[in-house]
Amino acid sequence: MFDLVLKNGYILTMDENFTEYKNGYVAIKDGKIVEVGEGKSEFEAKEVIDLNSNVVIPGLINTHTHAAMTLLRGYGSDNPLKVWLEQYIWPVEGKYVSYEFVKDGTDLACYEMIRNGITCFVDMYFYEDAVAQSVKEAGMKAVLTTGILDFPTPAAKTPEEGIQKTKDFILTYRQDKNIFPAIGPHAPYTCSPNTLVKAMEVAIEYNVLYHIHVSETQHEVQEIKNRYGNTPVKHLDSIGVLNERVLAAHMVHPTEEEIELLSEKNVKIAHCPESNLKLASGIAPIPKMLEKGVVVSLGTDGTASNDDLDLIGEASTAAKLHKGYNLNPTVLPARQVLAMITRQGAKAVMMEDKIGSIEVGKDADIVVIDVNQPHLQPLFDPYTQIVYSAKGLDVDTVIINGKVVMKNKVVQTVEKDKVLYIAKKWREKILNG
Ligand SMILES: [Zn+2]
Repeated sequence: MFDLVLKNGYILTMDENFTEYKNGYVAIKDGKIVEVGEGKSEFEAKEVIDLNSNVVIPGLINTHTHAAMTLLRGYGSDNPLKVWLEQYIWPVEGKYVSYEFVKDGTDLACYEMIRNGITCFVDMYFYEDAVAQSVKEAGMKAVLTTGILDFPTPAAKTPEEGIQKTKDFILTYRQDKNIFPAIGPHAPYTCSPNTLVKAMEVAIEYNVLYHIHVSETQHEVQEIKNRYGNTPVKHLDSIGVLNERVLAAHMVHPTEEEIELLSEKNVKIAHCPESNLKLASGIAPIPKMLEKGVVVSLGTDGTASNDDLDLIGEASTAAKLHKGYNLNPTVLPARQVLAMITRQGAKAVMMEDKIGSIEVGKDADIVVIDVNQPHLQPLFDPYTQIVYSAKGLDVDTVIINGKVVMKNKVVQTVEKDKVLYIAKKWREKILNG
């Protein structure tokens, strides 16, 4: 007796062989995938969903965001980076970031992510206990890190305090089935070598991910060169914090030598093309990294610099950006970018044994895309259709840990009217100072 069966679906398992079942089914029990296959139509199950030939993919994994920043969506856009940060983002964050702000912003983000088929995300912000609360209520999965910086933050007065709080957070949540605590030293230009090394000691001791922004802007590269005589990746390597548990966001300006290092040390990348474009940070050399075997996943970054949490849109941007920039239509084909937001995303967060593909034994984190719509027919190739024709809003059903969290485009776990009301209230508050 299964708990839930999805039948008559076009299943893209996104396993290593890109196995697909054109008239397939997925059977779920106790939150796990227990059978996947072709053709069967009679099942003993508590619930059977007939998919009407819609396309089924694994839950999408957003490997870099600052969820609560949904409350600053579109605020101060189109300014130079320095003006945007110093006159808009930082003053508002300084004044308002609190448990309440983070909880409200993350509720809004969780609604939007589920709506767009995202089942797991990596967050770096403050008040991660508020983020954890939102994630659990939404029934999502998340890798959560508190941003650790050398100057005072809403979370900690010193980096030592930030690291201690992260240790406590890890101990609180390490057994949780939704929350995957990790450590988040913000960046090489905001953390001293000592902070970076101490954070890595914690990552190793507690076996967690080490999430950090690296080589985002040319300004950062120059700053690190001035301070340490090295480019950012080489700097991290020289102090001994470059290894397989590093998930580096952005990586826009690595040198050839640094790309070799990333490959050799098995560092994972969270590529955020829309944020890099909007903030004019540059274009990351993703095809070169892929050529060297580096694991590349995709992140939306926060909505203040994107400005949405649509990973299907991000995949489309990534595919087209690198084709255009490299004058080569064969780089980043649709299958590869779809893998970046599923299987490779799971590798990036060290959870490939649990999520990222539709395979027996993995968590039942599953997304159904409604392809029975004029803009998605005729359907020759489901991979290209998802990447080039679909939007996040074409997601119809989302299942996480075997539980239906969105059905027929209606999110079940987060109340739409409530998050809208709260978002509008924050707008008033921020505008009226
Ligand atoms: Zn970021």
